[in-house]
Amino acid sequence: MRCPHCETDVDEHPANRCLDAWVAEAAMGNPPLYQATKKENNEWGTTSIIGEPMSLSNCQELCERLDEGFVPDIRAGNAHYSTSIAAAWEVVEKLKNEYTDIDFDGEDWRVFFSTDTFAFAPDVKLAICHAALKAVL
Ligand SMILES: [Zn+2]
Repeated sequence: MRCPHCETDVDEHPANRCLDAWVAEAAMGNPPLYQATKKENNEWGTTSIIGEPMSLSNCQELCERLDEGFVPDIRAGNAHYSTSIAAAWEVVEKLKNEYTDIDFDGEDWRVFFSTDTFAFAPDVKLAICHAALKAVL
């Protein structure tokens, strides 16, 4: 299975904001995040997004910046599932069941959310994200 944003295979996907967005959408049940883009005909459309989040202090600033062509990134709300153990543990809490297991074999962390789907990686946060996606997709 491949990332809907960058088409990287799940087992090869590095820990980054793109993986965070995929986990948020597929495993955590958050709706896909899109950016608003102004098309040539001046109507608003939506496009799947990759990139670093931005923040805006208030609605007036947003309206002014939209008029200047600013493209907002509402993924700022996504937790850093692939790089923060606290956020990764939210994924474990969400998907845990009687088959859940996390162990270390001396080289890699192995994460199971079912008896037949698991992932392994040197970084436990990354293994959790990969295993979560494989469990739900
Ligand atoms: Zn991706």
